[in-house]
Amino acid sequence: MSTLPQRLTEIRQRIAAAAQRSGRSPQSVALIAVAKTVPPETVNEAVSAGQALFGENRVQEAKLKMPQVSGRARWHFIGHLQSNKVRDAVELFEMIQSVDSPSLAQEISKRAQQAGKQMPILLEVNVASEATKFGFTPDAALAAVPEINKLPNIELHGLMCIPPPVKDTNDVRPYLRKLVALKKKIETTHGIPLQHLSMGMSHDYEVAIEEGATMVRVGTAIFGARN
Ligand SMILES: *Cc1c(COP(=O)(O)O)cnc(C)c1O
Repeated sequence: MSTLPQRLTEIRQRIAAAAQRSGRSPQSVALIAVAKTVPPETVNEAVSAGQALFGENRVQEAKLKMPQVSGRARWHFIGHLQSNKVRDAVELFEMIQSVDSPSLAQEISKRAQQAGKQMPILLEVNVASEATKFGFTPDAALAAVPEINKLPNIELHGLMCIPPPVKDTNDVRPYLRKLVALKKKIETTHGIPLQHLSMGMSHDYEVAIEEGATMVRVGTAIFGARN
């Protein structure tokens, strides 16, 4: 059995190696430790081991957990966000990665304005157009970007995706490439530079980095299986 600090060290080494394989520096990839269902004391262990960025997919859970976690932790929201939770999310999170509709982006901008903040966001893209998943289709994202980018209190930093499950890790590459292609298309069509691609989870983060991920969201491989 490995310890949490050992697992973090190994993942950081794997991230660095994958970044180098794709001709990039290890610092160009951020590790988001996904802490959903993980108790605050375990999150604090990760902070002590040098982990700074954490992901949560429920506002309510995050709100209870954060006061019990070191102030050195910084939080990204990665779940489906209901409009009645936006005010809390804007207050608690450094980035909202899972913006899945124009109306949600508008609500975030409105609440950020009230809070006197600029809110960094990513657009969640449903790369396989799965009926069961939230997110913009690639075409809808391309069409929505100019309006969203004009909102006064959000900063559009990039795109995120949760690809469908595949048997062989390599089979995820075509979905990841769709996100990479969409980023390029948005940049060339609208002249809006996008800094981040958030893609890759415990089972495929190395492949995602090879394809161009700048943020990977890893839960199980750090904290163990969730109940
Ligand atoms: C839970 C979750 C992850 C992490 O998944 P693991 O397979 O445990 O690494 C990443 N992204 C999102 C959006 C999640 O909800």
